[in-house]
Amino acid sequence: MKKPELRQSLAMHQKQKMIPKMMLAGEMMMLPLEELEMKLEQLLQENPFLEFEERMFCFACEQPLDRYLDFCPNCGRIVRNDTGYYLEDPGSFSEKRSFKELLEEEILSCVELSKEELKLLEVILANLDEEGFLRLDLRKFAFHLGVPEDQLQGVIEKVRAEGFVGFAAADTLEFVLLQCLNKGLITLEESFQLRKHPEKIRFLLKKGESLFVSFREFFEAGLDERGRKELDDTRRVSYDAEIVALGGDEYGVLLFDSPYLKLTLNEGFISLFKDKRSSLNSREQSFLEERLHEAREILSCLRYRNSLLLRALEYIVFREKKYLAGDNTAFVPLLQKEVAEALGVSIAAVCQVLKGKRVLLPSGVVKEVKFFFDPSYPAKQVIKQLIQKEDHKKPLSDASIAAYLRKQGFSVSRRTVTLYRDQLGILPSHSRKKLYASMTS
Ligand SMILES: [Zn+2]
Repeated sequence: MKKPELRQSLAMHQKQKMIPKMMLAGEMMMLPLEELEMKLEQLLQENPFLEFEERMFCFACEQPLDRYLDFCPNCGRIVRNDTGYYLEDPGSFSEKRSFKELLEEEILSCVELSKEELKLLEVILANLDEEGFLRLDLRKFAFHLGVPEDQLQGVIEKVRAEGFVGFAAADTLEFVLLQCLNKGLITLEESFQLRKHPEKIRFLLKKGESLFVSFREFFEAGLDERGRKELDDTRRVSYDAEIVALGGDEYGVLLFDSPYLKLTLNEGFISLFKDKRSSLNSREQSFLEERLHEAREILSCLRYRNSLLLRALEYIVFREKKYLAGDNTAFVPLLQKEVAEALGVSIAAVCQVLKGKRVLLPSGVVKEVKFFFDPSYPAKQVIKQLIQKEDHKKPLSDASIAAYLRKQGFSVSRRTVTLYRDQLGILPSHSRKKLYASMTS
C-alpha cells in the first residue's frame, strides 16, 4: 500500500518543482504568430517592465540592424525582403489594392488635410499593421518623426472625426473603447478606468452592442461592393515565416516581422524602479521584483522560440531546395528527429516550435509546416491539381491518376491514389461525374 502514496507525493513534489519558465517556454513555442501576439499583448499589459523594441535586430544572432539592410552583417542571414505583396493571380495586379491603399483613398475623399498633415497621414498608414492598428507609442513615434506629438495626434483626431472611428488605435482594447465612446456608451473618464480594467468591458458588450475587434474589420464592413471587390485580401492569410528565393538554389527564411517578436526590457522603467525603490514598501518591492524577473524570463523564452523556429525552418528549406524550386518529385519527407539532431535540440522542442506554424512559400502559397513531414504531400498536391482541371464529362479514374503520377516520377499504386483521394475528401470519379452533371443542369 505504500507505493501509491510515494508516487503521489513524488508527483506533487515534481509539480511544485515545475518551473513557470518551462511552462511559459513550451506555451510560447507552440503558439502560431497570431495567438502568440495575443498572449504577448496580455503579458505586456500586465508587466510594466516590457515594451516594444523600436530597432530591428536579427532573430538568429540578435545583432542590432540598420533599417535598410537586407542581410545581417553578423551572420549573413536575410533580414528584410522588399518584394512586397504576394498576389494569387498576377494578372489581377492592377485591379486589386491593399487595405491601406483603399483606406488612404477613403480618408482623402472625406478629410481635408494640409500638405504637412498629408505627409503624417502617409507615415501613419505605413505603420499600421495588418489589423489596422498603430502598435507604437505615439510619443516616441512623434519623436522619431521629429514632429510634436500634438500635431500627430491632431491628424489622427481629424481622421477619426470624419467617421473613421478608432483610426490608428494602438490595439483592440483602445479600439473597443473608442467605439464605446463614440456610441456614447461610456464617458471619457470611464474609458480611462476601463483601460486599466479591461475585464469590465465584457459588461458593456453584454448589452447587445456589436463592436469591432479590429480596425480593418470595421473599415472593410463599411466598404461598398466596388471597394470590397478591389480589396486584395491575400495577405490576410497569416503565416509565421516567409521563404525567400535568393537566386540560384539558395533560399532564406524570414520570420514575419511582428513588433511582438521584438519585445524588450523597458530600461526607463527599470531605472525608475531602482531610483524609487526605497520609497516603496516591501510588498510593492517584491511585487515589482517578481515582474522584472518574469519580464526577463518572457524575453528569454521569446528569443529562444524565435531563433529555434528560424533555424528549424532553415533546415527544412535547406533539405527541400529542389522541391521549392518546383520539382515535385524532389520532395524529401522529413522526420522531426532529423531536424532535432541537425539543430542539437530535443525532438520535443522541434515538435513544439513547428506546431501549427505556417510558411509562405516562394510560389506565394501559404502552407502548414507539418506538410514537410508528410510523405504523401507532393503526390496529394498533384492529385488535387489534376482533379481541379479535369474534364467534367470524363472525370479521371484513380487508375489513370496513378498512371499520370508514375510518369511524373512518383511510385504510387492505384490503391495509394484511392487512399490519398479519400484523405483529401475528394469523391471517386463516378460520383464526381454525377456531381458535375447536377451542377450544370
Ligand atoms: Zn544575424
